[in-house]
Amino acid sequence: MATDKTMTMLGVLTVALMASTPALAQETCSFPAPDPYHHAMDNFVWDYWRCDPAVWQDYDTRFQLSDGENWEGYGLHEKCNLDLPYARTLNALYLVQHSAPASSVGTGKMNTGWSYLDDKIPRIGAGCTCDSGCVARYSPGFWPFALERVQVFTPFYYSRTVSHRAAVLIHEARHDEKSHNESDSACGSGGSCDSDWAYDGSNRWHISWLSDFEVWGNIRNQAMRDDAVSWANYLIDNRFKYTPDLKHVPGVGLKQKCYPNCVVHTCQEYGLCGTYPSCYNCNPCYRTGDSSTGTSEAAAFSSQDGKAGSTGRDAPLPPPECML
Ligand SMILES: [Zn+2]
Repeated sequence: MATDKTMTMLGVLTVALMASTPALAQETCSFPAPDPYHHAMDNFVWDYWRCDPAVWQDYDTRFQLSDGENWEGYGLHEKCNLDLPYARTLNALYLVQHSAPASSVGTGKMNTGWSYLDDKIPRIGAGCTCDSGCVARYSPGFWPFALERVQVFTPFYYSRTVSHRAAVLIHEARHDEKSHNESDSACGSGGSCDSDWAYDGSNRWHISWLSDFEVWGNIRNQAMRDDAVSWANYLIDNRFKYTPDLKHVPGVGLKQKCYPNCVVHTCQEYGLCGTYPSCYNCNPCYRTGDSSTGTSEAAAFSSQDGKAGSTGRDAPLPPPECML
């Protein structure tokens, strides 16, 4: 759907309806002291920007981090208190923006993550808990009666590392274009299930960002890398109805589960010529040169040979004597 960042055609109505445009319900929450595991990673990222006003002013504007989005009781007026949700959310935003390399690496999801997030998500709201105990939630909105936003909740601030928070934001941004397409019982995690990797939904983007971050992120330490590996592999195995044949290999990226011991097939093991899987019969009289449609010779070869991949499609033309 279109984001309301660019929804200017209804601008004339904006002022008149502003007073009735709903903000998030005010909800207060008590906050635990961050545990040492999470705190150490947050401090590592924090040292890169140290509550620079230019950073939080920019993020406040881009994502409407204001009282209207319920940040009043979540650290809005203690912007530099890293124990509170506001600063912990900004720390994740900073990581999305500044940990990405300038050029495409891996899946390509990390170096484009910031521009995607900025384009798709007009506002980020704070919350304590959501009905299903979720970490974050995307709402498409129905302007002007409801606004498009991502809401983040207590597990986001305190039970997810800063790098995983960053990946969750990418996950939610993807929901601007795709919802989960399977029921909660369709995957191991009991919710947020996608059908498969090819669906290209939020879980694929979430995993891809973590994978790229682990290998190529500009701002990361070993603890953050280990955390990204664990989460990426957990999500691969628990967020799809049809589990992808993938795993994240530390320092390498996404590979087939069999990596590094995958069997490499050759045409020769089937007694054929060519490069697997485009094998063909080594006997020139069974070859065809028609690589687009196949020919009767190819069909004859296939039925006689009966071996997988032996369609003859990439074979050179048969010599003239075979045509007799
Ligand atoms: Zn989701």
